[in-house]
Amino acid sequence: MKYYSTNNQNLNYSFREAIMRGLASDGGLIMPYYIPSLKKSLINNLNNLTFQEIAFEISKLFINDKIPPNSLQTIIEKAINFKAPLYKLNSNTGILELFNGPTLAFKDFGARFMAQFMNYYVDKMNNKIDILVATSGDTGSAVASAFYSIDGINVYILYPSGMVSKVQEKQLTTFGNNITALEIKGSFDDCQNLVKKAFVDKDINEKYNLTSANSINIARLIPQSFYYFEAYKQITNKYDNVIFSVPSGNLGNLTAGLFAKKLGLPITKFIAANNINNAFSKYIKTKIFKSNPTIKTISNAMDVGNPSNFIRILKIYNEKHYSIVKDINSSYHSDKNTLKEIKHLYKKDNYLIDPHGAVASLALKQYIKEENPKNYYGVILETAHPSKFNDILKNILNINVNLPDSIKHSLEQKKISTKLSKTYSLFKEFLLSRE
Ligand SMILES: *Cc1c(COP(=O)(O)O)cnc(C)c1O
Repeated sequence: MKYYSTNNQNLNYSFREAIMRGLASDGGLIMPYYIPSLKKSLINNLNNLTFQEIAFEISKLFINDKIPPNSLQTIIEKAINFKAPLYKLNSNTGILELFNGPTLAFKDFGARFMAQFMNYYVDKMNNKIDILVATSGDTGSAVASAFYSIDGINVYILYPSGMVSKVQEKQLTTFGNNITALEIKGSFDDCQNLVKKAFVDKDINEKYNLTSANSINIARLIPQSFYYFEAYKQITNKYDNVIFSVPSGNLGNLTAGLFAKKLGLPITKFIAANNINNAFSKYIKTKIFKSNPTIKTISNAMDVGNPSNFIRILKIYNEKHYSIVKDINSSYHSDKNTLKEIKHLYKKDNYLIDPHGAVASLALKQYIKEENPKNYYGVILETAHPSKFNDILKNILNINVNLPDSIKHSLEQKKISTKLSKTYSLFKEFLLSRE
């Protein structure tokens, strides 16, 4: 499998180069030249495959490098070592619980997969690598946890000061060792801009062997396609329409879903669920894409004004809006309605959902109401464990959400961060002055 830059079809990379670089040398995003197809016989027999076997079969197609099958299997066993159960909410709705990894968010899938591959490649080189990653909350903790104590890899995490939850902040500032947390006075988009600039900065690249761990790294996307298959496997009856509602920010999760469909999984429709940061939703409705400044919401991991994977979606569909809207519907939802939906699901369905999942639930309901699909099954991706948003839930439901032990542990640790402004020259100075 060869990969190319979204800025230049002729700039190409192997899987190894793609994962180790993160971004293409011209600043473009890296994409596979084509999305491979999974054998029909495998798709028809998902029931006979374990989650890890599904992951192995898909990985093989995307990697097709010189990684021996045994090593690939080890990588997958280490990375995908937790489940993705489909909770049956009612006869035609399921909630795919993607929060069973060590940091309780779906980003553990991508981060762990990437970390294990980088570990494999760094072992083969005599070099160190440095990872720069911008986070709106969950990426940072997932990456910190996935890379913690991996030899030869240093990680710098940039997060917007005051815009991540207390738990999220603890999860990304308490590891230490090879993990450095940088607290930026600015928004997530500011953090992302700093990272993007550093990648094309000659001075920094002379000193650092940089790669990225954001959802822009293709190794983050590939494993996210696995759980669409795993979800499909768990839908017990046959339905004419299978619909996935995806809480969307940088659109990585959605892009991975589109990969799954191209791989051959018969998904009828995707719904990109936005909060008020609705650049993508507006694009679907109006054909015009305009990025916006970030607005803070309670589904904070979706507070993205300029989603980086938008370009990948355009490429998958040859930039044809009419093809995109055949596969993707989108709507956006206010905090007020999100809180109502959390309450509703708790009181009526006895299900405790986090704010991101709640936005996806609203978007699914709106789609069903407007389009009235026949004989459908809707899957809501629940991207974070509700306890990560304990404060919000305590407030509106008057209950105490039990924190899993892993979170209790990180809350007890001491926060260590370096505060920086969003000015690029100062960020650069910081990096260049490091040992
Ligand atoms: C990152 C994140 C999202 C958004 O996913 P994208 O791939 O950036 O669209 C949604 N929910 C949670 C909990 C997240 O951490």
